[in-house]
Amino acid sequence: MAKGSRRSNRAADAMALLKAGDDPAPRVPSGERVEDGWTVRSAGVSDRVYRCPGCDHEVVAVAHVVAWLHDPDDRRHWHTPCWAARSRRRPR
Ligand SMILES: [Zn+2]
Repeated sequence: MAKGSRRSNRAADAMALLKAGDDPAPRVPSGERVEDGWTVRSAGVSDRVYRCPGCDHEVVAVAHVVAWLHDPDDRRHWHTPCWAARSRRRPR
């Protein structure tokens, strides 16, 4: 059972050798990025309805962006284009 689960180890070892001496030290989990101090994550379509801080309209049934400054519990859900244009329409 589960004999194939370690199949990727050889590739991982090769990668580790390639990166030896180089410390990638990813501080942000994969799928997240930092923009202007905000941690940003792409979110898929959700059943829930959110209020976009960029345009003050509902974020519903669309893939969107989740962003927070310091506390993930304070995350906000943005329309993707609103997030991209946030510098032009910064929430007050
Ligand atoms: Zn919006």
